[in-house]
Amino acid sequence: MELTDLTLHELRGLLAEKKVSSTELTKIFLERIAAVNSKVNAFIKVVEEEALQAAAKADQRLQTGDTAPLTGIPLALKDIFITEGIETTCASKILSGFIPPYDGTAVNRLKKQDAVILGKLNMDEFAMGSSNENSAFGAVKNPWNPACVAGGSSGGSAACVAARMAAATLGTDTGGSIRQPASHCGVVGLKPTYGRVSRYGVIAFASSLDQVGPLTRDVEDCAIMLQAVAGYDPLDSTSIDTPVPDYPAGIKKGVKGLKIGRPKEYFIEGLDPDVASTIDRAIATYRELGAEIVDVSLPHTDYAIACYYLIATAEASSNLARYDGVRFGQRVNPGEGLIEMYRQSRAAGFGPEVKRRIMLGTYALSSGYYDAYYLKAQKVRTLIRQDLNNAFEEVDVLLTPVAPSPAFRIGEKAADPLQMYLSDIFTISVNLAGTCGLSLPCGQSQEGLPIGLQLIGKPFAEETLLRTGYAFEQATDWHLKKAPL
Ligand code: GLN
Repeated sequence: MELTDLTLHELRGLLAEKKVSSTELTKIFLERIAAVNSKVNAFIKVVEEEALQAAAKADQRLQTGDTAPLTGIPLALKDIFITEGIETTCASKILSGFIPPYDGTAVNRLKKQDAVILGKLNMDEFAMGSSNENSAFGAVKNPWNPACVAGGSSGGSAACVAARMAAATLGTDTGGSIRQPASHCGVVGLKPTYGRVSRYGVIAFASSLDQVGPLTRDVEDCAIMLQAVAGYDPLDSTSIDTPVPDYPAGIKKGVKGLKIGRPKEYFIEGLDPDVASTIDRAIATYRELGAEIVDVSLPHTDYAIACYYLIATAEASSNLARYDGVRFGQRVNPGEGLIEMYRQSRAAGFGPEVKRRIMLGTYALSSGYYDAYYLKAQKVRTLIRQDLNNAFEEVDVLLTPVAPSPAFRIGEKAADPLQMYLSDIFTISVNLAGTCGLSLPCGQSQEGLPIGLQLIGKPFAEETLLRTGYAFEQATDWHLKKAPL
């Protein structure tokens, strides 16, 4: 067993017992990155020198015994998190060379614990995508099969954990971008409740939907990472001032008597048969563990994709206005006036999917179409939230697939954006409703690709999700399977 194979909580034990130092551990992870990143393309940037400095600092703190849960643990960040002194591109050409002058809140909180940041991870440009093919740095390859996508948009964050190049990572989830790549790469991913984790210093895609969360080897690691970043932040006006429970302490409570809802709209024709049978087996496992399975309905599910792709693109068109070659972004200036400078800067800097979204969103917000598209979508969003609220009157947790199929081939859906958008059907309602969702490995396809299970909770019920996920892990061994790399 290699040290890189261990979970964060196991590594933490070794550091505390002084069986290994953070510097040794960091070097081992850096070697692992050097050996396998070219096969996966998860890292956009590795910051070896800064990582070793942070490890040396962590080692001093470990000597004192006054440590935090992440002290000395090698982690990596999606390149959507701005990092002081380290280039941050959001996988877009338009931000190439952008060196932020400060750290965001989540990064700050990791650094306060003296975690070691190894580098920045690949993603879909501005987090727009479900396959990580929309990156200026090329697609991330799935560690289970390099011909397949890793999922997106936090594909680098999921593949990095699956390929054991960091103990855990942070990603963001606007419509599934943590949960779906976690599912495709066989790791655990949590999208916390809107307002649970600060987005200060996270590059905005769709501000009413974006949320920060961890991708990890197992549920216990997920609880540790969430604990580190959760909580009120006056620098993010959408962050909510509600107490943060002790997440790791709550995971072992079991699921006896827990009511788990099975939404009938999520078990549709077209669901991949391997996914369907795997989820059925997971349901049977929960029954054996003493949970009660209840059929529920989320009647507006069919409208979720249209609703999401109107709201997300509308917000993106507004958020991305700042990349104009003046406030932010590489400038292309042909010397033909301001408008031409904007036009050429944006034309050269953004990739095709980002341009498509800006155009869709601008159209949905334009006068004459606003009522028919944007306003209508906002009303539908309320109905989708009500569906979930109604279900949660009857059950504690919902259990669904994460994605309609296991990871697809690189290139398979790239030419058909609608096909790509449709694959988000099971994850976007959670964002539209502002609640939390956990993805954890629950099986494999006949081809040997991981399949994930989604647990959806009430707002701020991350504790319930984590204990429900943990109970499944204790009864199965899917989270222990390792990508053949
Ligand atoms: N796949 C969705 C999209 O393309 C979600 C992306 C995300 O969560 N950032 O918008």
